Amino acid sequence: MDCPKCNALMEPVSYGGSNTTIDRCTQCHGLWFDLDEAERMRGEWMSELVDNGDVAVGKVNNKITDCDCPRCGKKMDHVKDAEQPHIGYEACTEHGMYFDAGEFTDYKYDTLLEKIIRLLRR
Ligand SMILES: [Zn+2]
Ligand SMILES: [Zn+2]
Repeated sequence: MDCPKCNALMEPVSYGGSNTTIDRCTQCHGLWFDLDEAERMRGEWMSELVDNGDVAVGKVNNKITDCDCPRCGKKMDHVKDAEQPHIGYEACTEHGMYFDAGEFTDYKYDTLLEKIIRLLRR
């Protein structure tokens, strides 16, 4: 499978505590999750270890929003996370979602600080 952003090869990765295998780009370290995998891994301890890419690279790649699903080749939607609108990922409704390097960690840690800010705004 090729990375939808930089076209480098993506390799399967998993980590100790999980049976979930995702795909990570060997070059930009973007992450591809098949449907449901992201939600599943979000709840798993240390799953952010797979997100070992350079956040600066991820920020640059985040501006590339015109890319195709690595599974079916259809153009993916650029989706802003409902709870954390600064996170934008690419999604194919049939196959899954793509996070730039660093984004999954951010997505997972809907940080305590962000929760507190939301509480204070109510
Ligand atoms: Zn890549
Ligand atoms: Zn697709």
